[in-house]
Amino acid sequence: MVTKTIDEHRVESEPSVAVVVPLLNEAENLENLHARLATALEPFPTSRILFVDDGSVDESIVIIKRLASQNRNVRFISLTRNFGHQIALKTGLQHCDADVVISMDADLQHLPEAIPDMINAWKNGYLVVNMIRGKEKTSVLKRLTSKVFYKLINAVSDFEIVPGSSDFRLLDRKVVELINALPERCVFLRGVIPWLGFEQCDLTYQLEERQHGERKYNLFKMLQLAATGITSSSTKPLRVAFVIGAVTSSVAVLYAGYAFLVKILFDTAISGWASLLIGMMLLGGVQLLMLGVIGEYVGRVFLEVKSRPHSIIRESDLD
Ligand code: UDP
Ligand code: MG
Repeated sequence: MVTKTIDEHRVESEPSVAVVVPLLNEAENLENLHARLATALEPFPTSRILFVDDGSVDESIVIIKRLASQNRNVRFISLTRNFGHQIALKTGLQHCDADVVISMDADLQHLPEAIPDMINAWKNGYLVVNMIRGKEKTSVLKRLTSKVFYKLINAVSDFEIVPGSSDFRLLDRKVVELINALPERCVFLRGVIPWLGFEQCDLTYQLEERQHGERKYNLFKMLQLAATGITSSSTKPLRVAFVIGAVTSSVAVLYAGYAFLVKILFDTAISGWASLLIGMMLLGGVQLLMLGVIGEYVGRVFLEVKSRPHSIIRESDLD
């Protein structure tokens, strides 16, 4: 990891900071989150908080609008429906022009109090500051799924995605602009950020318990995120089909030779419909599985080719 000398412009004055918070039905957390963010952002007079409401059906938008009317530095974007966390976050990034953009969740699992440390790391020359969760207080299921997910994604991806990373991070203006210029719809920022390169640093923080409300990432959404993560980071799963095909064909050729020899030498045919059936079912299963993998990629190509906008904004108070 490289520690660069402090850029001249960075010490002259405090940077303008934008905090992007994508949220779905987080009404009970918003007041508290805003209060803690306001305290953490006090040293940065030109800071801004941008709430991106991802189609909440609770009181969230009412609270956001109230916070925006009472505080000059609070802004909001309200999407027409639930587009998903990654898209909501990307929409937020597209509407930030600050020197430094910090993204975090709305449920107070990501500590607003870590912001000064993140900005210090930026002042030391890092263009990306990834927040990595330390020892976790989360459920066994979440820890297990997260472990399997990172093992899987790192096995196929060409870039290391540090286990325990999330969308709690700081991005320099330059990096935000590069992300905004990426045309892809199936975004998985945790895979895009290591791909970008630049000087990045990892800071560890203690992931807190969710303050109020339910987790919005259910098993289905997590599987969706995992599929997007893997298919947008690599095409290695497609090669697996080739390897399995090559191995099974070789076994079949060897077995055919063996059966031929037995017939020639002992004049007996190898019997057994059970082995035949198992072989057929196994191959049928592998073929369908691989078709599913190919289908994932074809589906993503289809989504990209359609070139629809990432999200649709219902309302916003951005200038
Ligand atoms: N979220 C969102 N859209 C969604 C799902 C989640 O904007 O479709 C927000 C959610 O309100 C929270 C953040 O994304 O601010 C992370 O979600 P959650 O806390 O449920 O996930 P976890 O932290 O358990 O992985
Ligand atoms: Mg959470």
